[in-house]
Amino acid sequence: MKRIQPLRRTAQLLTLAAIFIIPLLNVFEITFIKGTFYSMDIGDVALADPLAIFQAFLTSRSFNLFMLTSVVIPLFIAVLFGRIWCSWFCPYYLLTEMVEKVRGRLGLKSNAPAWHESSSSRQNMTRFTVLGVGLLLVGIAGIPILNLISAPGVISSQALVLVKFHELTFEIAFILAILVLEFFFFKYWCRLICPTGSFLSLLQGRRGIKVTRVESDCSQCRTCIESCPMRIDPMTEGDNPMCHNCGLCVDNCPDNRRRPTLKFRFR
Ligand code: SF4
Ligand code: SF4
Repeated sequence: MKRIQPLRRTAQLLTLAAIFIIPLLNVFEITFIKGTFYSMDIGDVALADPLAIFQAFLTSRSFNLFMLTSVVIPLFIAVLFGRIWCSWFCPYYLLTEMVEKVRGRLGLKSNAPAWHESSSSRQNMTRFTVLGVGLLLVGIAGIPILNLISAPGVISSQALVLVKFHELTFEIAFILAILVLEFFFFKYWCRLICPTGSFLSLLQGRRGIKVTRVESDCSQCRTCIESCPMRIDPMTEGDNPMCHNCGLCVDNCPDNRRRPTLKFRFR
């Protein structure tokens, strides 16, 4: 039974709605909540994308109390849940899932790459290299250039511009371009490139909520591997930084119908 996916979809849709509703409230001068996914204020609480703050640190070579307090909550969530932001809240990930659905409606087979023992290490190496090179360039150029390719940041700021000024800027072309490629290359952006998601992976704690298998109850049917959008093995790699706790493996595990075999657990 799919218990997690309806909750996850609800969280995604509410987040998507929020990026339009927040600027709309601001238009009517209701400003207790304001900002984008780069940085947001809810009352007196400031929240910021940890990667945006890290870039601000690299470019200004200074760190202040505001920077620290604005990442406390995102940091806490990432330490405990890994990059849960990606599968539960990021509007770009929702769009990639819509692209997958469109492919299905067109009768096209899934183009997810086959799982291989070395899939996760190759993917992690690629995306952490992209992040490392990106941060190096930020340090050299003194400009937070990774913000320009933060898919959630760009989408939320475009929503703000659209609602407040009834226009879109050239940055929407970037989102459209990477989204079109999703049609041909399965979740390539989130698996291999996105610096925002990779940075969140780095913050994941050694202990936290992770997919865990009860080995003695597992029939080794490998359904979970087939369902994992990050192309990792949920049976043994629940603590892999690639995992974004989407819960698809848990929902699809046939052994879970008998007794909890693949589940989220604090460990
Ligand atoms: S990897 Fe990036 S684009 Fe993908 S879901 Fe995470 S933050 Fe969003
Ligand atoms: S291991 Fe499970 S929870 Fe993690 S990304 Fe794969 S399907 Fe989602």
